[in-house]
Amino acid sequence: MILKIFKYGEKVLREKALRTGIVTDELKALADDMLETMHKAKGVGLAAQQVGRLERLCVIDIPDGCETDEDAAFNAPIAMPLKMFNPEIIAREGSERDKEGCLSFPGVGGSIVRARQVVCQYMDENSMPQIITARGFLARAIQHETDHLDGVLYIDHMTAVERLEYAAKLKKLSKGNGGTR
Ligand SMILES: [Zn+2]
Repeated sequence: MILKIFKYGEKVLREKALRTGIVTDELKALADDMLETMHKAKGVGLAAQQVGRLERLCVIDIPDGCETDEDAAFNAPIAMPLKMFNPEIIAREGSERDKEGCLSFPGVGGSIVRARQVVCQYMDENSMPQIITARGFLARAIQHETDHLDGVLYIDHMTAVERLEYAAKLKKLSKGNGGTR
């Protein structure tokens, strides 16, 4: 089922998600609906708040060709798509600036500094604990989505100059979605 994607300005994007218990059939269905919604919108990641929910759940699916060959080889053991319940980043290493976008910010881009590599622990859809080490674009997506689950948006990581550059676009987007700023 395709879900509504909540856009910048809607309050739910600033709320903190709540950890889930074991993965019920209902939660599995939600993760599948989020993936379907994300694929249709041509995104690579989606967090629960973006569909108006507060479960600590995000989905990620990096299409082939989005990563450097070196990063793709490093990330190869991590099977796509990822359905991550209660994800927490437990280690970060290095940093790099790269382009980033978000389905809740149509028409807005930006270039954001993120850790180059992260270690993330989460529970999979069989309620089994998992730990993965990801690099590059996938590491960026994991940081972006876990931020969403904490009510943090990628524009929060923009420099003052970038924020100024996007200020008019962001204000318009927020106002169109019931926001006050
Ligand atoms: Zn996003």
